[in-house]
Amino acid sequence: MVAQESRLTRALTAFDEALQAGRVAQAYLVVGNIRDEGLPFAEGVLSRLLCEGMIKPCGDCPPCRKVRNRTHSDVAWIEPEKKSRTVGIERIRDLQRLVYQTTLGGTWKAVVLVGADRVGEEASNAFLKTLEEPPPRSLFLLLTDNPQAMMPTILSRCQRMVLSTEQESLPEPWQTQLLDILSLPVESGLVGRLSRGILIGQLLDQMKKSVKEQEDDRAEGEDIEEDTLNARIESRYRGLRSMAVRAILFWYRDILLFLCGTEASRLRYPGQAEAIAALARGVEYRYALRNIQIIEGMQRQFDRNLTQDTVIQVTMNTLAC
Ligand SMILES: [Zn+2]
Repeated sequence: MVAQESRLTRALTAFDEALQAGRVAQAYLVVGNIRDEGLPFAEGVLSRLLCEGMIKPCGDCPPCRKVRNRTHSDVAWIEPEKKSRTVGIERIRDLQRLVYQTTLGGTWKAVVLVGADRVGEEASNAFLKTLEEPPPRSLFLLLTDNPQAMMPTILSRCQRMVLSTEQESLPEPWQTQLLDILSLPVESGLVGRLSRGILIGQLLDQMKKSVKEQEDDRAEGEDIEEDTLNARIESRYRGLRSMAVRAILFWYRDILLFLCGTEASRLRYPGQAEAIAALARGVEYRYALRNIQIIEGMQRQFDRNLTQDTVIQVTMNTLAC
């Protein structure tokens, strides 16, 4: 509980800093338990934006109270319908009306999408259009505990606020297999790096196959179109692939941390400290830093729909260790 509170506090502090710097993102993907983390975060953000008190959020002015009671006229709370458990297109139209309507006061307009992974396909496409051309001073908070189920095009337009870390780590046994591949020594230079790329590609293929099997099973007996099923598979797979990229990013961050003299116990992967140390021995600080930028670029290339094998091979070839 304590850890949860501090993560929430930290996320709100990060938002305060962005607000002060005038760098509030248009849309935030808030990953975490909706009731315990997502909703308190949304309330915190909205009261910071809309508060009229001296020290914001005062918690006591009319806007602060309206945020708490969900009666603020510039905030739309969108939740899945009880019966279908999805957010339909009508609700998306409601939020479009709200954000495109101008306020005299020029205050913020905000939309909280509670359970953003439950937006139906037609509604998702309509919502994507709003995210692509958002009016100024509008803010979208997408709360979810299952970002893997969301459309990648929507995910790519949101800044992530992760309130629960467990949602973000690659499930076993893939995490272990990935770390084993990354631990392989690259003595043989380019050839070693190429084979590491091939192994990572094979692991991703296995992940996709397993997602497909699970979703095929789930769809059995369900009246579902093939396109919808394929989109579901693709979306879940892309979520997993993003987690794999994050796991690789943490790996290279560990190498950098090791070079900076960080104790093994404080690494993300303390169990792999030996392999990390061995790889760190062969690399200069500036190249270790560049490795991190290369892995960050890898996710951007995936988002741009470049061929998976090409992205992996190019990435592996440019890494310094
Ligand atoms: Zn207030």
